[in-house]
Amino acid sequence: MKLGQIFEEKKLVYSLEIFPPKADSPIEKVYDTIDELSRINPDYISVTYGAGGSIQDNRTFLLSSYTKNQHNIDALAHLTCIGATRENIDNILDELKAKNVENVLALRGDIPSTATDFKLGDFNNSQELIRHIKERGDFGIAAGCYPEGHPETKVKDKDIEILKYKEEAGADLFITQLFYDNNYFYEFLNKVEQKGIKVPIEAGVMPVINKKQIERTIQLSGAKLPGKFIKIINKYEHDKIALRDAGIAFAIEQIVDLISSGVRGIHLYTMNNPYIANTITDSVKSIVESINREQVI
Ligand code: FAD
Repeated sequence: MKLGQIFEEKKLVYSLEIFPPKADSPIEKVYDTIDELSRINPDYISVTYGAGGSIQDNRTFLLSSYTKNQHNIDALAHLTCIGATRENIDNILDELKAKNVENVLALRGDIPSTATDFKLGDFNNSQELIRHIKERGDFGIAAGCYPEGHPETKVKDKDIEILKYKEEAGADLFITQLFYDNNYFYEFLNKVEQKGIKVPIEAGVMPVINKKQIERTIQLSGAKLPGKFIKIINKYEHDKIALRDAGIAFAIEQIVDLISSGVRGIHLYTMNNPYIANTITDSVKSIVESINREQVI
């Protein structure tokens, strides 16, 4: 099913994100992760591609295919255009279509961490990629958005203007960068509404797993941390299990607040950790179901 239809059918969409294994790790490990996540029965699972400047290879597409064809869960393959030619992108789109993957998250991409001199390729930004995919007509298209602003954007609220371009180019859905303070998200939604943007926005929520992960995430995303979150990290940084459980509790509270405020979707960054994804989902399941029952009545 394409994203547009998924959002038409559900008042509240609940989706998951995973990432491919490192270059020297077997893909089977992530197939096992998908097997475990499938019990959540999410509306779709997205698979990152070269995130954080890591390696780009076809395992994103193999994992997307496995999700769709082995579990009959809709898949959203991330696709970045940084350094890519039109031909590269078309080959990937053909591969995805052949694998019955119907949705693509169209991104410019992170600048590779090892690159000293990188080239953009045939596409200057995500809008050009979105337009190109839209012209082919085969895919539901998601795009990224940034409640706290994109780290490279210097002009205030420029991101809202760019979001409008992404909508006009053909995006069916926006998924946010992770954030830990819901107030930034609500302020962002107000601006989006004022701009007349109608595309649904899913909130990206990333639970804390450990201190190292959080430091790297903050460095990449620029997300600000609320005081109560900093307290949790400082208090439990040397106790893995306590930090994990406090991180789970924080994510649950964040999700409940987002859902109660009328968010259209929750996109849970699972970090390929089924225990965390399952624990969070079990706690919010009845709330998600309650919202989706409202529409049926
Ligand atoms: P764009 O929308 O092209 O924006 C990039 C920059 O250019 C921004 O600063 C923007 O302000 C500026 N810009 C864009 N259009 C214009 C314009 N017309 N005029 C002037 N300035 C403009 N990265 C990966 O490599 N792999 C992944 O799998 C991945 N998954 C992600 C998932 C989500 C939900 C999100 C939010 C991000 C993800 N990223 C991923 C990170 C993303 O690739 C980076 O944030 C990247 O730096 C920007 O991508 P974009 O598609 O938002 O770029």
